[in-house]
Amino acid sequence: MKANRPSTAAEVILIGGRLCLDFINTVDGRKTGSPRKESRSIYSPVLGDKLAEYSDLVAWSRHAGIVTATEAERLIQASKRNAREAKDVLDRAIALRETLYRVVKATITGRRPQTVDLKTLNDELLRARNHEKLTHVAQGFSWEWAGSDAALDRMLWSIADSAAELLTTADLSRLRECVGDDCGWLFEDTSKNRSRQWCDMQDCGNLAKVRRYRTRLRGSNRTKRSNH
Ligand SMILES: [Zn+2]
Repeated sequence: MKANRPSTAAEVILIGGRLCLDFINTVDGRKTGSPRKESRSIYSPVLGDKLAEYSDLVAWSRHAGIVTATEAERLIQASKRNAREAKDVLDRAIALRETLYRVVKATITGRRPQTVDLKTLNDELLRARNHEKLTHVAQGFSWEWAGSDAALDRMLWSIADSAAELLTTADLSRLRECVGDDCGWLFEDTSKNRSRQWCDMQDCGNLAKVRRYRTRLRGSNRTKRSNH
């Protein structure tokens, strides 16, 4: 593992509206028409995956606010001592992410999620629930994660928990997949008139506008040429 490699995972725009959706969006290019886009291969560099190493997972977790800077540093140090375990966690993270993508995509398109995907999610939830601890705080009670200091997979607990909350409490008819050609990012449409189509208007939306403009331009150029 290279030291201090800047991670693109820490630069991903968080537009999902939910932790689990933002986690699904650590890949871009799911809608390129590639036959691999919904494949079961757990890691495909073709997809523009931001999670190539365990350190990327930590960088994203810090970026998404589920670990502090100190905790992130501790995880990186621990991963260097347990490289094999860190790799296992990364594999589990990618498997969970692709599972969540398929489950949410099935929900958006009105299909039943696959049994194997629900099992994967439930397995991760079971792990997470094992670490849930009810604690007393100033205003009452809250959930905390017990034993998180030494756990390389602690970010997966928060992600699985976020997915369970989304699937059981959110208005699922507000889940969307960005209409951008090479995008495939998922988000919760919280707009008043339920009209959001793009992950990010500044990025995908604009890109589509530029493409439409270029296509029009090409069309008009062709017309001009044919007039000569
Ligand atoms: Zn998009």
